[in-house]
Amino acid sequence: MNDLVSPETVAPPPAGAVPDTLAVMEVTARPPIVFASGEGSWLADTAGRRYLDFIQGWAVNCLGHSHPALVSALTRQAATLLSPSPAFYNDQMVRLCTLIAQQSGMDRVFLCNSGAEANEGAIKLARKWGALHRDGAFEIITMDHGFHGRTLATMSASGKPAWESLFEPKVSGFRKVPLNDLAAVEAAIGPRTVAVMLEPIQGEAGVFPATVPFLRGLRALTEQHGLLLILDEIQTGIGRTGRFFAFEHAGIRPDIMTLGKGVGGGVPLAALVATEAAAVFAHGDQGSTFGGNPLAAAAGCAVMETIAAPGFLERVAQMGAYLADRLTALSAKHGCGGVRGQGLLLALDLERPVGPAVVELALARGLLLNAPRPDSLRFMPALTIGTAEVEEMIEVLDAVLGEVTAG
Ligand SMILES: *Cc1c(COP(=O)(O)O)cnc(C)c1O
Repeated sequence: MNDLVSPETVAPPPAGAVPDTLAVMEVTARPPIVFASGEGSWLADTAGRRYLDFIQGWAVNCLGHSHPALVSALTRQAATLLSPSPAFYNDQMVRLCTLIAQQSGMDRVFLCNSGAEANEGAIKLARKWGALHRDGAFEIITMDHGFHGRTLATMSASGKPAWESLFEPKVSGFRKVPLNDLAAVEAAIGPRTVAVMLEPIQGEAGVFPATVPFLRGLRALTEQHGLLLILDEIQTGIGRTGRFFAFEHAGIRPDIMTLGKGVGGGVPLAALVATEAAAVFAHGDQGSTFGGNPLAAAAGCAVMETIAAPGFLERVAQMGAYLADRLTALSAKHGCGGVRGQGLLLALDLERPVGPAVVELALARGLLLNAPRPDSLRFMPALTIGTAEVEEMIEVLDAVLGEVTAG
């Protein structure tokens, strides 16, 4: 214990109190609530209030809070081995890479710690492949309104208008085109192009799916021009859309895929996945101190095995259809613009910029929702959610939409 910090200053707050949050660097507006525990679809704060969670750590806790399979894998692994160094294989790393390769039909997996780190790896891998196989081509075509992370290169790859003037100069080598416009992609291909990169469903932009014809067209176009297809499945992968990976809906397979969010079930974990032909890193090109550590990898294995269990994905698809039905009915009742998305990644189009007001009123009633844009609500519940919880959410949202419309 440091002399400058007395034990009193660092002791946990008494039950019922909101702790002093001043030391937490302010990067976003957070409500004066401090979460302390969670179970399934429910969170509890330091005052003991319960919240129904339709955000789930930002589509992260695919099995809900503190799923028994995850808790036992983490507990067991914490008592066994944490970090033998990324310079060595460890049993959990090997197990998880093998599970991801088998499930995706792809060949090589690099484990890391966040979505942005996985996408940085994807960009580096594509540039390396371009240096080896396409005469130094390095340019990557990405989509308007796409989101790939918050490092400098992944911000540069993203198509978020608000980021255009932020942290200049950006990393060069990205060309943006509109989503679902195959002709625009074809027109953007030049001698320096090495890859096309996109999300199967644009999550942060507000849940806007790439269509099946667009994804199939991109696969054909990239093959025809000798380019790589990179899919950012950080939000859509690991069962979120009712299939293990969203690319399965289109019957295609990318050359490079990134995973994050759900793959760790709440533990920081991400993956860069490539076909054998695209996996061209030489020794020293890529690495990560914590990448492939057995604690996170054990969590990933528990998630992969739970989702691969018979019937799990069928149930996600059914619950997704159920939630979409209930939201569609609510949309008709309140004069909203309908539902977008797939599986348990859905958005309700509010048709007016009341999203932030709805989120605030829902929070006051103990329901966590997200408005990725002012006119839309996003739903990313646990993949294990039940009909009772959906009904409870719908009941609160119904009341809140009534209140917003009246006010
Ligand atoms: C969340 C997200 C990222 C960034 O992941 P981090 O773990 O926050 O770095 C990248 N791409 C997509 C599609 C995402 O949803």
